[in-house]
Amino acid sequence: MPDALEPASSGRAQCRGCGRAISKGELRFGEALPSAYREGESVFWFHAYCAACMRPEKVLALLASRTDEISERAELEGAARLGITHERLSRLCRAERASSGRAACRQCRELIEKGAWRLALQIFEEGRFQPSGFVHPRCAAAYFGTTELTDRLRRLSGELREADLAELAESLCARPGLAKTAVEDEAGKARSG
Ligand SMILES: [Zn+2]
Ligand SMILES: [Zn+2]
Repeated sequence: MPDALEPASSGRAQCRGCGRAISKGELRFGEALPSAYREGESVFWFHAYCAACMRPEKVLALLASRTDEISERAELEGAARLGITHERLSRLCRAERASSGRAACRQCRELIEKGAWRLALQIFEEGRFQPSGFVHPRCAAAYFGTTELTDRLRRLSGELREADLAELAESLCARPGLAKTAVEDEAGKARSG
């Protein structure tokens, strides 16, 4: 079976990418992969936007092969193109507050403080997403090669408030790899001499 892009016929499937339900009628992407457990293929369903973010090559190829009207086509193409330009973007799955202070940032290797924002990563292997660590928002530019993450975070993270997104957007644009205090220290030093 080829990959599919269609309105969901029921509200029962769960998105492989973000883990939330796909509502009935919502545009979904179905990726057919060889089954690990039996002969033939299994279909993995995603919200169309999650798939554009996390499986960009496949979504772009499918969109190119379709001439019919697809809701959100421009948005899906945009997200997929950005993901192809910046390959690591397909690993981004959500922004969240760190539940412990034990995880180190994959970019700068420093611990991410408990309660601080972190960007969760996952890697797609053998039809499954595996958690793959975290990066500081301030390290996102260095890690992903872009700070154009706000649209993705809004759509992928689900329950973020606008105030959270504003805070995240600001820390995404901080100097990569440097804590805010380090930036301020440097600015202070520059001023004093
Ligand atoms: Zn999703
Ligand atoms: Zn970092």
